[in-house]
Amino acid sequence: RTPEPVTVIGLGAMGSAMAAALLAAGHPVTVWNRTAARAEPLVASGARLAGSPAEALAAGELTVLSLVDYAAMHAVLDGVEPSVFRGRVLANLSDDTPDRVRAAHRWAADRGAELLAGGVMTPPPGVGKPGAHVFYAGAEAALEAHRDALAALGRPDHRGTDPGLAMLHYQAMILVFWSVLTSYLHATALLGTAGVSAAEARSHLLGLLRDLTAEGPLGLLDEVTDEIERGVYPGEFNSLDMQVTGAGHLVETFADAGLGTTLPTALWELFRRTAAAGYGANNLTSVIELVRRPGE
Ligand code: NDP
Repeated sequence: RTPEPVTVIGLGAMGSAMAAALLAAGHPVTVWNRTAARAEPLVASGARLAGSPAEALAAGELTVLSLVDYAAMHAVLDGVEPSVFRGRVLANLSDDTPDRVRAAHRWAADRGAELLAGGVMTPPPGVGKPGAHVFYAGAEAALEAHRDALAALGRPDHRGTDPGLAMLHYQAMILVFWSVLTSYLHATALLGTAGVSAAEARSHLLGLLRDLTAEGPLGLLDEVTDEIERGVYPGEFNSLDMQVTGAGHLVETFADAGLGTTLPTALWELFRRTAAAGYGANNLTSVIELVRRPGE
C-alpha cells in the first residue's frame, strides 16, 4: 500500500521524532507548530509546513497531535472551522487526565471527527524503534484504518473503546516508572553520604529490583498480586505496624544525613494511616485498601 499522508501538529521533542519516523517510513508529512522555526529540520527532510492548523488538518485524513496537554490542543484547534474536522481521525498522543481525554473525544465527535487517544510508552529517541509501543483507546476501526502509519511510531496497543483508557494505562505505567526511579535516586543519595559511588549503589540496588520482578516462588509481585486478588494480607511475618516504625526510622535517617525527606515522609504517612484504619496486623499490601478509600 502507498503510505498515506499524515499531519503532525506539535513539534516538541516527541512530535519532531514522530514526524521524522513517519518521513522515514515513506509517508508524505505535513507539519504545524505554534513556533514555526521548530519545523525547519523536518522541512529540510521533506516535510511540508502548513500555514495554519486548518490547512494542516485538511492535508489528510490522519492527524497526529503531540502537545504538552489537551488544553494546548484546544488552543490550536478551537478556532478551526468545524467542517474541516469532518471524517478525520485525530490521534492525540499528548499527556493529560482520562476525564479530559473523554471530554475531548466528545468535542471531536461534535465536529464529526474521531479522537483516538494515545499514550506513548517510549522517550523520543525510541519512537519508531523496536520495543516502542503506544497505548490507544477509542474506536478500534479508526486505529485499524490508520494502523500502518501509527505503527511507524511504535506498536499500537488498543486498550478499549472508552477513550480514557489509554491515558489510564499510561498514568499507571508512569507512576511506577517515576516512583521506582525516584526511590532509586533517594537510595543512591543516601549511600552517597557514606562515600558509596553511584556505580556501587547500582550493583546493590539491581538485585532488589530483580527480586521484585522475578517470576515464580521468589517473585514478590506474584505474591502481592495473589494477595490483592484474594483481598487477604497476612502480616504474621512482616506486620504493617512494624513497618510504620521502620518508615519512621527511614525519615529520621534521611533527615540525619541532611537529605530531603519528602518521599520517606509520604511513605511513612501512608503506612501510618493504613495501620490506623485497622490494617496494622496485616502486611504492606493492605496499603491498597487505603488508596481505594482515601477518606479513611
Ligand atoms: P515539548 O515541551 O518538547 O513540546 C511541547 C509541544 O507543545 C510544543 O510543540 C509546543 O509548541 C506545544 N505547546 C505547548 N503549549 C502550547 C499551546 N498553548 N498552544 C500550542 N502549542 C503548545 O514536549 P514533548 O514533545 O516532550 O512532549 C509532548 C507530549 O508527549 C507531552 O504530552 C508528553 O507528556 C508526551 N510524552 C513525552 C515523552 C518524552 O519523553 N518527551 C514520553 C512520553 C510522552 P512550541 O514549540 O510553540 O512551544
